[in-house]
Amino acid sequence: MSELAERFETHDPGEKLVAEKIRCDACPVMCYIADGRTGACDRYGNVGGRIVRMDPLTILDHTSQTGAAIVPFVAEGEAWDGELVNTGRRFVTAIGAGTTYPDYKPAPFIVSQEVEGVDLVTVVTEGIFSYCGVKVKIDTDRHIGPETAIVRAAGEAIGHVTTGEYGSQMLSLGGVHHLTGGSKAEGRATCDALLDLCNRKPVELAIDGGATTIVEAGKPPVIDGKQEHRMRVGCGSATIGMFATQWRGLVDEVVVVDDHITGVVSEHQAGKVLGWQDTGIKIIGRRSTPGRYFKVSEPGLGWGGTSISDPLSILGEWNAKKGARPGLSLLMVSTTGEQFAYYELDDELKPVLKPFPERLQKSVGLIEDNCEPALCTVLFIGGAGGSLRAGVTENPVNLTRSVQGLTTYVTVGGAPVYVWPGGGITLMVDVTRVPEGAFGYVPTPALVAPIEFTLRRDDYIRLGGYEAEIRSVEDIVAKGGEYFNPRRGTGAAASNPWPPLAQLRRAASNETG
Ligand code: SF4
Repeated sequence: MSELAERFETHDPGEKLVAEKIRCDACPVMCYIADGRTGACDRYGNVGGRIVRMDPLTILDHTSQTGAAIVPFVAEGEAWDGELVNTGRRFVTAIGAGTTYPDYKPAPFIVSQEVEGVDLVTVVTEGIFSYCGVKVKIDTDRHIGPETAIVRAAGEAIGHVTTGEYGSQMLSLGGVHHLTGGSKAEGRATCDALLDLCNRKPVELAIDGGATTIVEAGKPPVIDGKQEHRMRVGCGSATIGMFATQWRGLVDEVVVVDDHITGVVSEHQAGKVLGWQDTGIKIIGRRSTPGRYFKVSEPGLGWGGTSISDPLSILGEWNAKKGARPGLSLLMVSTTGEQFAYYELDDELKPVLKPFPERLQKSVGLIEDNCEPALCTVLFIGGAGGSLRAGVTENPVNLTRSVQGLTTYVTVGGAPVYVWPGGGITLMVDVTRVPEGAFGYVPTPALVAPIEFTLRRDDYIRLGGYEAEIRSVEDIVAKGGEYFNPRRGTGAAASNPWPPLAQLRRAASNETG
């Protein structure tokens, strides 16, 4: 049983309050925590009779974006002495901020800051996301499982295979049905896997009727024990189109083996335009258009995402009347250039494997060079609707409208998000852009994710914000908040810009115009 699962087992929110225990009210579980211990989620503890958020509040320093050096102003675990080392542009993230619960309370931090003459407010809270999951993109041609197949972690169903993309297999994991709609074990396993994936840890996923993969955000996937290195340059047809000129005059026929579209240069439009001669080749598969074949094999872990290990198995009889002749040369290659073989037809018009000729090395190398590294991408998706918004404004729908109208800019741990069009605030964020360890959980079960809403101060007041709770960055750095945790400064990732002034200015000019 995992550490997380053990906590689910041992925690009893209904246990009686005893004298030395105090109640954490940061989520509906309402743990009673003894002095020196932490609650069920490990995020809050009883330190000397006070409920303390155990991780430091993370404040990002954007000094590097103005070219100055980054100086961490307090190391993790050190006590904050109140001295302001960095006075450059900072961003108070929700990492370590604490949660707004019950939701009518104002968010833990409502931060004011003037940036380039614009008065901005950032509302900061650690949101509890019951409606959340991850979308996983696995860069591979290999067949990891059929669409809609169940994906399991620790033996429990936590999601499914969804529609594949160009060069990638896609998983949809988590969601409220797996978190809360199934058995307790399913909810735990789902929460466990989502938390690890969001915090960029490796997670083993087994797909019904398919492969076992190890997924880690930003790292190459491992499929049935083999690490993937490259994602394909394109489908077989696209590969023919891209490299036909490289092969002209060097070989009589080229077949690019691909589970989706296998390409044949002599028949393909690219080859025709270049004056390629017919070769009498026969592909066993469903011909789509000239030189493009579907379903040459079942999907699998072999050449180009097919199940084959011998590429000749997709070829039929060669036809002498259509150009086949002894000595005709044939290159067969996969869409990543990782598998390749060279053949010549014998007197019976049977392809015979020959040593790979030097003259074709460059073209195969070119395919490999054009392949990007294979990676796993994990996007956290969550609905910041419902009551979380009440911690931002007394009239929650105003926040939704403001986000949808681009007047309010949403970030997760300082990372930009994509907000889905339509109702509510359904956001997606690349977890590799979020500072490490930013995600937590509560045993309901649900994930906890930092979320910040930044908007112009006058807009914030207009939409019913908690004006009396607004504090300066300096005050927050010096005094902290209601959960007594230290503050920690760290350099912001260069890819996460602060602040989104262009957007906020544009929104303001749209309103006045
Ligand atoms: S699970 Fe965590 S946040 Fe919820 S009450 Fe317990 S310690 Fe507090």
